[in-house]
This record gives sequence, structure tokens and C-alpha cells, in this order.
Amino acid sequence: MVAKLLRTIVQGGIDAILPPRCGGCGDVTDTTHAVCADCWAGLRFITAPQCACCGYPFELDDSANIFDPSGNGANTLCAGCLQRKPAFDMARAALVYDDCSRDYLLRFKHADRGDLTPLLARWLFQAGHGIWDHTDLIVPVPLHRRRLLARRYNQSGLLAANLSRMSGVSWDGLVLRRARNTRSLGGLGPSSRKREVGGAFGVDAARAIKCNLAGARVVLVDDVLTTGATANACVRALKQSGAMHVSVITVARVVR
Ligand SMILES: [Zn+2]
Ligand SMILES: [Zn+2]
Repeated sequence: MVAKLLRTIVQGGIDAILPPRCGGCGDVTDTTHAVCADCWAGLRFITAPQCACCGYPFELDDSANIFDPSGNGANTLCAGCLQRKPAFDMARAALVYDDCSRDYLLRFKHADRGDLTPLLARWLFQAGHGIWDHTDLIVPVPLHRRRLLARRYNQSGLLAANLSRMSGVSWDGLVLRRARNTRSLGGLGPSSRKREVGGAFGVDAARAIKCNLAGARVVLVDDVLTTGATANACVRALKQSGAMHVSVITVARVVR
């Protein structure tokens, strides 16, 4: 109680010195962790109808691509998932990855805007609605130690910690490990990406026992879902170590 009061006072003091800035354009806004009206208008949140598996939004697609075996719309799959089922059981993203959401993520990752975490975590939490009640463990996509040192924090770890607080589900940032560093995937095509991340992730056996990975329903947290190569490599490692069900939740996803 006292600690909370103190925090409020301290936060108030900080706000007075450093006015809160928009997470998108950096302009001064009136509330902390918020987005100015212009940036808000530019964000494209993903809503239903979407692919039951990968979360692909259908509003951006032509309906000819939609196939629904149940006929009621609940189990609609996109053409990609029908053709080849991903390693993950489900993927959901808050935003369409475009110039606007990319700005947020770049600031979050490289411009020391760790203060954007609560905002992004709230979006992630909403993107995963209906999933948290059926989740045992939240796991962030790990950074290699070298990149972690350069960047000072693992942004996915920050998001996982915040999501844990919001959902009441425990998280573990050590169970999934990057066995080797990978090149930046930017500019690589789907098959090159897959080759680059294949075998790049592993599970720490002792840690897996500690966090009851065997039989667990896991949510994997990352910033962007592009081709799904990284997510699928992580999911395979988790499932090989006994995870029963893995959903992937990202801030944004590429929509093609
Ligand atoms: Zn703005
Ligand atoms: Zn799909």
C-alpha cells in the first residue's frame, strides 16, 4: 500500500519532468503508455473473421480463399493452413505489420522505449483473448546472448512478464534457449528463413522439469510473425520436450 503510494508519487514526479510521449511518433501525449490520435488512427488491429489456426484476417482477403469444413464459420482455415498445417496450434496477433506498427516495434526494440511494454502487452493480451484461461505457461522467444548484450533486454521477455501479470499465468524466460545465433532474417525468403532457424532453438531439460513443460499448454510470445519460421522452430523444440499445445501471440503479423 505504502509502496504503491510511493510509486504513484515517484511516477507523478517523473511525469512532471518527462511528459509522456506517443509510442508511435514520439510527440507529447496526455496519458502515459498511450498513443496520440493520429497514430491510433493509423494502426490496423486484427479482428474476426480470421483463420482459426494462424489468425490470418479475412477482411483483407477475398472470400474465395476461405474454406470452412464446419459451415458455421468457427473453424475457417486460410488457404496456407489448409495446404500445410503449421507446427503451432494457433497464432494470434494484435496488429497488421505495416509502416505504422513497424515504427512501434523498432522503437520498442532499438530505441530504449521499454516503457512501451505495458501498451504492447495490453494489445497482446487482447489478441489472445480466450486463450489465457487455457494456458499453463508463457514463454518468450529467446535472444542469443550476444544480441541480448547489445540490446540490453529481451523485448519478448518484457512482454511475457507483463502478460504473466495480466493473465495470472506463470512465465519462464530460460526454458527455451537459442542454441546458436542466427542471421537477421530480414530479406530472406521463406525457405532460407526455415533453413536459418532450423535447430537454432532448444529446451533446457532441468528448467523444463521445473516449470512442468510436459503436458503443458504454452503461449509463445514474439514481436512479429513473418513467415512463421522462427515460431515454428520454437514450437517444435517445445513440443519435442513434451509441450502439449502451443499458441503463438505476437504484436504484429505480416499479411500478404
Ligand atoms: Zn503519435
Ligand atoms: Zn491460417
